[in-house]
Amino acid sequence: MTSKTGSFAKRMYLPRALGSGIGFWAIAAVLYALPTPAWIWPLLVFHSFIWPHLAFLLARRVAIPYVVERRNLIVESAFGGLWVASMHFNLLPTTLLISMLCLNSIAVGGPRLLQLCLASLATAVLVFTGVLHPGFAPETTPLQVYACIPMLAVYPLAVGGAAYHLGAKLAAHKRAFRDYSRMDMLTGLLNQSAWRSVLDEEYALAKPGIARSAVALIDLDHFKAINDGYGHLTGDGVIKLFSEVLSRVKGPSDTAGRIGGDEFGLILREASVERIQATLTRLQQQLQQTFNERPDLPAVSLSIGFAELSVHDDTVEDWLRAADLALYEAKGQGRNQIAAAYS
Ligand code: GH3
Ligand code: MG
Repeated sequence: MTSKTGSFAKRMYLPRALGSGIGFWAIAAVLYALPTPAWIWPLLVFHSFIWPHLAFLLARRVAIPYVVERRNLIVESAFGGLWVASMHFNLLPTTLLISMLCLNSIAVGGPRLLQLCLASLATAVLVFTGVLHPGFAPETTPLQVYACIPMLAVYPLAVGGAAYHLGAKLAAHKRAFRDYSRMDMLTGLLNQSAWRSVLDEEYALAKPGIARSAVALIDLDHFKAINDGYGHLTGDGVIKLFSEVLSRVKGPSDTAGRIGGDEFGLILREASVERIQATLTRLQQQLQQTFNERPDLPAVSLSIGFAELSVHDDTVEDWLRAADLALYEAKGQGRNQIAAAYS
């Protein structure tokens, strides 16, 4: 049993066990007042207290519990038909029973399963009307109304709770899916487009010349030689190691992303030139120190260009271009350098 199949079977199990257990009293209160054949009672006990556990075990054992659940609901609807006929169509419990069955079947399988369940229910009503020859006694006594109250009060709560649980799970899946689509698979950092949208937001929020935001572009030096000399997998290992160091060294409000093969971006929020220089220098030092501890990986140095958001930057592209020019300068100065734009 996988956790997914188990959770579907479990989601069905709790409302079913609860509904059948308290439904017993609603049905029994009617059957008790009627000349009910003795063989009906064991069936009612089976349906109310044994069937929910059996249905759970059946659904839990298979790879696709949905198929078994559909069958379970069709069987349950046939039981419903038996209770409707044996209660002589007593109005309140009959309505309650049918509406709960419809609720379950439409929630699990939509209108198609609802049709199948209603067909199963109607067939069972016809068959057991033929077998039992019930009268037509729609009146519900006060005692029978009381016996229906637990079902009326508790079952919608259980179904609502299950729907809430499912909604919360779906929202979590949606969030995980969104995070996944924003992530660079090799490093776990933001990918190019996600990082770029953070940069766009930062540009829109920070006021050039007032807020002290900066963008740094970081490129691994002679990285191609690592791939050529040690192989692509070792190259991947170096990229991953660098990403870990970057995540460790950056400030909590800074945003790192992988924006190309061996090129990374770092948005430094509310950063003075001193903090920028200190962060980027620490990044270079920490990386070399980490390589000392990992003799299995070839060491690389970093070239870094950074640009504070300036009044000259009319667009986010201007800001990014300034950092790119600074990176170009760092490369031109012999690599393993940090260069600032507009300096
Ligand atoms: P420079 O110092 O001028 O930056 O030289 P470089 O060799 O680092 O730069 P270049 O742009 O020539 O090479 C980057 C290399 O990065 C080329 C490409 O094969 C490699 N690369 C890109 N993505 C990946 C990746 O995901 N894994 C690995 N192992 N290599 C990658
Ligand atoms: Mg490079």
